[in-house]
Amino acid sequence: MNDSSSWPRVLDLQFLGRAGRISAGAIDTPAGVLVVDPGPASCLPALVGGLAALGCAPRDVHGLLLTHIHLDHAGAAGTIVRQHPHVKVYVHERGAPHLVDPAKLLASATRLYGDQMDRLWGEFAAVPAANLVVPADGDVLDAGGALFDVAYTAGHASHHVCYRDRRSGVVYAGDTGGIRVGPSPYVLPPTPPPDIDVRAWHGSIARVRAWEPSGVFVTHFGLHRDAAAHLDALGRELDAWDELAGTILAGVPADARMSAFVESVRERVRQRVSADEAVSYRDSMSLEDCWAGLERYWRKVR
Ligand SMILES: [Zn+2]
Repeated sequence: MNDSSSWPRVLDLQFLGRAGRISAGAIDTPAGVLVVDPGPASCLPALVGGLAALGCAPRDVHGLLLTHIHLDHAGAAGTIVRQHPHVKVYVHERGAPHLVDPAKLLASATRLYGDQMDRLWGEFAAVPAANLVVPADGDVLDAGGALFDVAYTAGHASHHVCYRDRRSGVVYAGDTGGIRVGPSPYVLPPTPPPDIDVRAWHGSIARVRAWEPSGVFVTHFGLHRDAAAHLDALGRELDAWDELAGTILAGVPADARMSAFVESVRERVRQRVSADEAVSYRDSMSLEDCWAGLERYWRKVR
């Protein structure tokens, strides 16, 4: 834990036994390791294994820096805190109540995932309020002696927050930074229901860009050092999808809209990445869910 130049570390959580799907970040601080988005409880063995490879035991974890509380990012938080009650959990003010009482969050996830909940995510245990630390938008957060700039970044989720590590300049962008699962500079905007807000998302991208990050760390997947190009690509794709949604809503019969969207996006991806990468993007996010999120945005927000 003493070679500070090699931090942050990317931990592959081997979601469903596969590499490159969900990553957690590991950051050293004077108080111990900070884990950015520990992932779902179903991935805990891989998280513990990844920490062990860095020479860290679970008890060395000082805190969990959550970008948002979706199950693939924050599902394991309560289980980790139950096993290690000293662990602090950093979270957006709108996410905090759902960690203390996850009933609503789990009900809405169950509507989406049904009987696959346990296989995909495992346990989602509550986090005691006493473990929570809730930074405000614009704060400078001291997490274990390391300083982070904090920005509330709606767009993907209304309770999303990004953190800029003041030492490394890396921004932990969760899903606000999109999905990028290959070396190609293609970034896919994950737009599932119920919170998608394209205009707010552009504002969030602008705030991250204004930090002039030395890298963008995204959960799906890992650290990308070409931060400006990455953010440009994300903004362009978000606009293209938004426009596509409008075109489909205006000209395609209701029962054919979802498949029209999915086909158009698959074709866009195929044109921009290698065949292998196209498979990775296909596995990275349900485009049916992306349609549902955009359709809702056009109906309720735009
Ligand atoms: Zn995610």
